[in-house]
Amino acid sequence: MLVEMVCVPSDVIWDITYACPLRCIHCYSESGRRPTRQLGAPDLLRVADALIAMRPSDIAIAGGEPLVVPDLFAVAERFSRSGISVTL
Ligand code: SF4
Repeated sequence: MLVEMVCVPSDVIWDITYACPLRCIHCYSESGRRPTRQLGAPDLLRVADALIAMRPSDIAIAGGEPLVVPDLFAVAERFSRSGISVTL
């Protein structure tokens, strides 16, 4: 009998951007003080699809300041339509 074990994450935290209007000294990601390297919408959705394929139950979108990402809501909707809980 072949038993296959597949490890999948139950929760994912995606730092979707390092862009932030603030520069808090306690920021663990040094957001606002490093290049933002923002992905465009097609690449963001490709990453979203790769995360969906891992079938996590929850995805937390963090950063940086996720609300400065123009396509944030399209990404969140992609997760939500896939039955994955999304938090910011
Ligand atoms: S991401 Fe949060 S902690 Fe980091 S600089 Fe921005 S507001 Fe401050």
